[in-house]
Parts: sequence; structure tokens; C-alpha cells
Amino acid sequence: MKKRVTVLGSTGSVGRQALDVIQREPESFEIIALSGWKNTNLLLEQIKYFKPKYVVVKDEKTSKELKNQLPNRDNCRILFGEYGLIKIATIKENDFVVVAIIGMAALKPTIEAISAKKRIILANKEIIVSAGEFVMKEAKKNEVEIIPVDSEQSGIFQCLQSRYLDNIEKIIITASGGPFYHLKESALDSVTVEEALNHPNWKMGKKISIDSATLMNKGLEVIETHWLFNIPANKIEVLVHPQSYIHALVQYDDGSIIAQLSDHDMHIPLHFALHYPERLKNDLPRMNLSKIGQLTFRKLDSKRFPSVDLCYEAIKQSGTFSVVLNAANEIAVNAFLNQMIRFKDIVKIVSIVMSKHQNMLNPSISDIFYQDREARKSTMKICNEYKM
Ligand code: MN
Repeated sequence: MKKRVTVLGSTGSVGRQALDVIQREPESFEIIALSGWKNTNLLLEQIKYFKPKYVVVKDEKTSKELKNQLPNRDNCRILFGEYGLIKIATIKENDFVVVAIIGMAALKPTIEAISAKKRIILANKEIIVSAGEFVMKEAKKNEVEIIPVDSEQSGIFQCLQSRYLDNIEKIIITASGGPFYHLKESALDSVTVEEALNHPNWKMGKKISIDSATLMNKGLEVIETHWLFNIPANKIEVLVHPQSYIHALVQYDDGSIIAQLSDHDMHIPLHFALHYPERLKNDLPRMNLSKIGQLTFRKLDSKRFPSVDLCYEAIKQSGTFSVVLNAANEIAVNAFLNQMIRFKDIVKIVSIVMSKHQNMLNPSISDIFYQDREARKSTMKICNEYKM
């Protein structure tokens, strides 16, 4: 039987790649619903091709625009906003939900999808960073599996498909180091937005490209690993591996390490997640180890790149610290992209916002949203003080 899929964020980078995988296997998947926010041109193409029953966009205005362009209006319902996202995440007709929206907007729809017992294919990072404890509790309660597609998390997930969960000594996630890992600390003062967006191995959205340049992305992945796999922070390590072919390694207590390697291509973890628990053949390009020649590793320099340490600190403090870290980082990254603050100010500002935060343990979802909003406000203030 075909698996019936909702894709939240189908016009974004990961959402489009998920549709690529699904498009190649029409015998395995059927698209029930898509959400695409503002990009109505691409949505229109996707609607014509996949014929979803529901589509969600940003607001009423965009929904009217899209309706007017639809050739056959009866077959597709256009909804909008958070209500629409929740609706398509929970409809009876679907089996699983690909969560490829970035940011906190994914939180409520994902929680509702979990309550409705839909399998989650998770590409969003922020909701696990901010509300990982809550989301994983809900998933456990509802017996819902969360299959990650971020390459490192997928790597860990694949390495852990064994009986030896009690024997894990540590989990190692790799970091390419981003575009600036070779630079001296002083040179980091003057890097430009354009240079920061130019990642050596991956083509990604702006926010995650900047996060890779500050290495905050790796820190967020440490938090994500902690919640997704229920692993204490002291058993999670970051290793710089500039070629990015090894995505994750799991070290067991007999000295063996199991690693997951694959090409720089998000289609591979997406293909795995969409078919899990089966592992099916595909025609994606294979990596050629003899051509690659060598894989190298370096210790993370947390003096030049202090962001990862901030994330370990957020795990240690627990409660709402990671909510604040995530929100502050998003605002500071935006301020850098708008050329309001300098590159090195991003992590500095996040650390200032965190140092002012009064922690709140066991937050509810409304506490999380409240702290998220407050942190954004206070980060904006500090960014204004740091204005170039
Ligand atoms: Mn990643």
C-alpha cells in the first residue's frame, strides 16, 4: 500500500528534495497535503504534479492569489496560517508528516501530528532544540516514531540500529568547520555576509549557512542529539572533519566505532527516512572512496568558535536555556545578514542574552513560546547597541 504523506515546507530546500524522492517512486508514496507559505509559483507546479487534497499558505491574501491561479479548484482545498498547518498535519488520510519548515512555526503542528499518531520525518532543528524534552515525551506517550533527516542525526539513527544501546560509550557528530575554520581569530572580525554564506560542501538556506560558519549549527545538533537519542551531553562529541563524508560515529564500550558515510546529498537521508524501517535501493550517486582519497579529522577549537560550548551549557542548565539560545541566535543571525552587526558579534550576543536569562524548569508549550518571544525582544535590543 502507498504511504500517504504531508510535506510541511514543500517549497524550501529540504521539502523540495523530499518531493524529488517521492516523485521518483510513485508506486510507494502519495502526496496528501503540502504547505509552501509564500512561493505560489512553485506551489502551483507542485499542485499540478502531485495533486494534493490540501495546500497551506501563509495568509488569506496568498490563499486567494493561489486559488485564482488554480486550474481545477474543486480538487484542492487551500488553507492558511497555523490553523492550516495543524489541519494538514493531523488529517485522517495521511500516514506521515515531513516537517521541513524552519523555526518555531513547526512546533504546534508537529505536536498535534504526534497526538494524532502520525509518523514524523523531521528536518526541523529548532523545535527539538527549544522543546526537545516535551516533543520526545509526547512521541513516547503516543508511540510515534520520529525519523530524523538532518545528515548527522540520520547518521546516528542508522548507526544505532543495533541491540547495543546500553553499550554506547559516546556519539561523535562531525562538523565540516564551515568556510572560516582555517582563519585566525583576528581575521574573523572582518568576514562579510557573502563569504559567510559560501559553505564549502553544502548548498543550504541562509540561516543554516550562517549557523555553519559560526559552528552554532553543530552546537544545535549536539542539543538535538541529546533529546532525540536520550544521550547525556558528556557522551556527545564534536569532531571537525572538513570533507563531510562521515556524518556520525557511534563508539561502543568494547572499542568499536560504527560510522555512517555517504555523499553530500540530502536525498540519501530523506530516502532512508521515508522508507524506514526498510532500507530500499535507489539510483542516487554513490561516493567513490578511492577518488576521495583521504578523510581527515581535527579537534574542535572552541576558543575561536565558542558557540558549541554555549550549547553544552544550555543542555547543562536545561529548562528554557535552549529556547533562549535558539531564539537569540536566530535574531542575531538575521541582524548579521542585514549587515547590522559583525560576524563575531552573533555568538557574543547570544551568550549575553543567555547570561541574563532566569531559567524556568519543566516549561509548558506556552512557557516555551513566551520565553522565545522575550528572548527575541531582548536580543533585538542588544543588536541595536552593537550596530556598526
Ligand atoms: Mn546537519
